[in-house]
Amino acid sequence: MTKPEFWNNNKRYYDFKSFLINTFGCKAYKLQIDAGFTCPNRDGTISTGGCIYCNSQFSNLRQTGPLPTIKDQICRGKKLYARMRGAKKFIAYFQTATNTYAPREKLKILYDEALLQEDIIGIAVGTRPDCVPDDVIDLFESYARDYNVWIEYGLQSIHDRTLDFINRGHHAETFIDAVERTAGRNINICVHMIVGLPGETRYDALDTARSIASLPVNGIKIHLLLALEGTVLGDLYKAEKIKMIQKDEYIATVCDILEILPPHMVIQRLTADGYRDKYLAPDWGRNKMDVLNSIDKELERRNSWQGLRFNE
Ligand code: SF4
Repeated sequence: MTKPEFWNNNKRYYDFKSFLINTFGCKAYKLQIDAGFTCPNRDGTISTGGCIYCNSQFSNLRQTGPLPTIKDQICRGKKLYARMRGAKKFIAYFQTATNTYAPREKLKILYDEALLQEDIIGIAVGTRPDCVPDDVIDLFESYARDYNVWIEYGLQSIHDRTLDFINRGHHAETFIDAVERTAGRNINICVHMIVGLPGETRYDALDTARSIASLPVNGIKIHLLLALEGTVLGDLYKAEKIKMIQKDEYIATVCDILEILPPHMVIQRLTADGYRDKYLAPDWGRNKMDVLNSIDKELERRNSWQGLRFNE
């Protein structure tokens, strides 16, 4: 198999930036939005502890004090991206915590506010696979008639023993059920997985990638596991009860994953970044550009690309 021409890029994988240019004919960016959601894995509905790598602030976007309106967040983000990167169109990305964790009527008000802003061509919503009742999926399907719509499901690992250890509060079958209920409705599905989870080998991560590759999934975010201050994982790291993945192993695992993913799957992320004030480990992961360059170099060294081993 040769590198697919439809990527129309100089990468060895189908990056999200190229997908957006190919789809919309101009530079487009995702604007992160914090709509004030919480999470059932934090508020006591499932647990109060949350996933062991998540801090109670949920993301860097969550600030103390009143939240700016969605309209204000979009206006601010648009100005920044237009100035810095020449973006012309934008996807409203509901990023912080569990962004479907409210009744459909409330969700519709929040999403509508975002979609009504000028130059917004789509919506992406990050959520848990156990927080998408059918009426919420119907809502996304209704938006998909006019917009580019993404639901981003946090899976992290296909292995239930890992999901238990990291306190996800759901198992793999819940994720598969959510994907099956979402598929075939003109909604793009993006899946988040983590490489470097405690107790997992490279082969465990590849199992997760193979499962994702076998499902009707349109995009993937591959995250490096970060130990952050104020998390259970951070405490385990400081107590030397877990080891973080080494850089060479991470790069090799990510390249293996890319090789087995289908060529059409859009790669939205290949590492993790941010959280500078809470960052504990791994030290090498602080330099995002170096990680991305190392992945490029390793794919080049292998003379390999995304999809080379898909279907093997
Ligand atoms: S599901 Fe997301 S927001 Fe909720 S505890 Fe886990 S990482 Fe945090």
